[in-house]
Amino acid sequence: MKAAAVDPARRAELTATAPRTREVVVVGAGIVGVCTAHALREAGLRVTVVEARQEVALETSFANAGRFCPTLLSTYPLSNPSTLKSLVSIKNLKTLVAPSRKGGDEQSQGPGSTSNPDAVALKSTGALPSTTELSLDVIRWGAHFVRGCTQKQTEAKNAIFRRLSHLCQDSTSALIAQFPNRAASVDLRFDNVWVYGSQEALEQGVQRAQKASGAGFKHWNQLSCQACISTFPFLESYFDKMIAQGMEPGCVAVLDDYTANAHKFTAEVRSLCERGPLPVRFHFGQRIRSVSETSAGSRRLRVVLTSSGDAGGVTTSTLEADHVVLCCGPSTNAVQRELGMTALPMVGLRGASIDLHGVEYGPRAGIADYVSGDLGFQLTPLEDGTVRLAGFADLIGDGSTPVTEAQCERYGTALKTRARLLFPHMTWTEESTPWSGVRPMTPDSLPYTGRAPGPLPNIWVNAGHGPVGWTMAAGTARILAHQLATADGLSYAGESDFLRYGLEREAPAFSPSRFLVFGH
Ligand SMILES: Cc1cc2nc3c(=O)[nH]c(=O)nc-3n(C[C@H](O)[C@H](O)[C@H](O)COP(=O)(O)OP(=O)(O)OC[C@H]3O[C@@H](n4cnc5c(N)ncnc54)[C@H](O)[C@@H]3O)c2cc1C
Repeated sequence: MKAAAVDPARRAELTATAPRTREVVVVGAGIVGVCTAHALREAGLRVTVVEARQEVALETSFANAGRFCPTLLSTYPLSNPSTLKSLVSIKNLKTLVAPSRKGGDEQSQGPGSTSNPDAVALKSTGALPSTTELSLDVIRWGAHFVRGCTQKQTEAKNAIFRRLSHLCQDSTSALIAQFPNRAASVDLRFDNVWVYGSQEALEQGVQRAQKASGAGFKHWNQLSCQACISTFPFLESYFDKMIAQGMEPGCVAVLDDYTANAHKFTAEVRSLCERGPLPVRFHFGQRIRSVSETSAGSRRLRVVLTSSGDAGGVTTSTLEADHVVLCCGPSTNAVQRELGMTALPMVGLRGASIDLHGVEYGPRAGIADYVSGDLGFQLTPLEDGTVRLAGFADLIGDGSTPVTEAQCERYGTALKTRARLLFPHMTWTEESTPWSGVRPMTPDSLPYTGRAPGPLPNIWVNAGHGPVGWTMAAGTARILAHQLATADGLSYAGESDFLRYGLEREAPAFSPSRFLVFGH
């Protein structure tokens, strides 16, 4: 039977009234941007990702410590009375902000330090001289941080983190379950151990684990020195060294957290984005330059991009969309300024890592070494006999201070020195060049996930994931996608599952405008 021809006028009328698929441009293809693109696509939007680099996850998400740590996250925020107490120590404040000619190793010895090399090495934080200038932005950030350190604020924020950690754990597992070759792509390891050098520090670690238990992360054990050595025999030499110095080491084994390579995870999520209906488009090597309305009063946006051509020239292109989401990690502030928007309170905490390949006699579990202090050194076994060493938390103001090659080398040397202290017999056949990345820190540890302040209502932000961006990326992506879809009146398949966590009610706590009432 021949189909009846549709009258062209009627066709035009139908097209005009048919619901158009809403379009969104995500800026930044780090772990947060790629997870956000995936969640928006799942909510039924057509997504384009724009990334300055040539691949996904080449900035902060490239070589982080690889800890997926909902247990730790459920005990957040970092702004709490005990952090404040330890920061108020003049020595700590000086280490954090005062420009210094001395290296951190020298500082950490302090007056009356012993010349015993093991004792010095055990206490060394390996921190580099601070590069932070006390700018007005850093002072304002600090003021917001301190305001959040009351018991009441801490408890209110912790109630959110407890639910957020479950959303993050479930959302990440759901993504990993869709990876075609899970074992080869993200080699998850569930053995993790927090190591302490004194009974007092161990007690604090146990309190943290008990707090996590209350949030539902119950799989952990406190291990005495002997129990720790029999469970993790590769730690024996390190423990012997501490005992010889009169220390009382102990550890907490944490089984709900795991380690995996965040860069590989992001690449797998990108593949998911490109498969199935409404495949996400990725534009690499392009930077966002401006966003404006397509015409006065219109809710459509014109996004101008530039890319560097092979011949060195700059090419300009434009995209149109209903929404733009900024996921630029530690550069989010700089990008907002460039776009003429209000920059949000955010500082950078620089850290570093180095990969050792072909490792023998090294760690066979993820180790968070808190012996020299709360910041910790991380030793993470990854795939194919690789061990990643990571650490440091150097405050660098707005996050834009570039790292020098010499600084990177010093980070690498300090990390290897620390690893040799733990594993004197460890050997490796090759090593990567040391890597450095910047954790984008908000004052209250919650990321900025929601509508950006400014005259254009359809610009959004998902950034500021601090030291736990690998852990929070998939969960916060769903929070952002839910807010944006709801603003457009869309309901979507995964909505009722998302609502189980009750986080849609917490939009003000995640709002990028939450500190602006104080005049930032
Ligand atoms: C040493 C270290 C160890 C860490 N360890 C852990 C850990 O064990 N567990 C954990 O959960 N988290 C960890 N983190 C934190 C985690 O790595 C970060 O929170 C996370 O990677 C941030 O991801 P992001 O996507 O927001 O930022 P990024 O990965 O930096 O992505 C931002 C992207 O935006 C792009 N971009 C910027 N400006 C523009 C522009 N104008 N136009 C287009 N694109 C632009 C950048 O090129 C970049 O690709 C660690 C961080 C560090 C530094």
